[in-house]
Amino acid sequence: MTLYIATSNPGKLRDFAAAASQDINLSPLPGIKEIPAPAEDEPTFEGNARLKAIYYSNHAPGEIVIADDSGLEVDALHGAPGVRSARYADDHHFHGPGKTDERNNLYLLEALSKVPTQNPTARYHCVLAAARDGKILAIGDGTVEGEILSTPRGTGGFGYDPLFYLPEQNKTMAELDIKTKLAFSHRGRAVVHLLAKLADNKQ
Ligand code: IMP
Repeated sequence: MTLYIATSNPGKLRDFAAAASQDINLSPLPGIKEIPAPAEDEPTFEGNARLKAIYYSNHAPGEIVIADDSGLEVDALHGAPGVRSARYADDHHFHGPGKTDERNNLYLLEALSKVPTQNPTARYHCVLAAARDGKILAIGDGTVEGEILSTPRGTGGFGYDPLFYLPEQNKTMAELDIKTKLAFSHRGRAVVHLLAKLADNKQ
């Protein structure tokens, strides 16, 4: 069975490719770059995942389309950057060096430097929505707990991965190979949850 992933984020696509199995093919939604992106203006991951899945499935009649909304929640920052994770630095008009991910990481460290906390706890949260012809079929949810380091480590992954430390692995997400990342990550857990829900719905 082929499920189409409605994202053009290369980091997310790499994670999904690693989650494919013999029975389930997780492919990028063809032509997604030509489809204007919808506004992601819901206050929750689930709200944004639902709206993206409904919107993109209307562009792929008869197919099951999966949308991902995800982000980082830092406890000492009251859950920020949360649903605004992709736009954290821009939202705060932070004009540091580098591309989006690097600037988001620099802004996160700046925000944390103003809060008295040691080993700040955080979690990644991913919500996946599957839809066909504009109707939601299933929702999958996954989280992973960690801590934010004060200096980045590792070159793998994307986004906040070089700062997101998993104490039980003694590694950041950016130091894990893609299969190991998926076994522990919010996205890997959300995929397992979503596929189980889709299989239940078929019975
Ligand atoms: P979205 O496209 O609005 O879901 O944005 C998700 C953002 O959350 C990404 O751009 C990253 O900044 C962050 N994020 C989500 N999942 C991950 C991950 O697995 N690793 C690192 N950052 C992530």
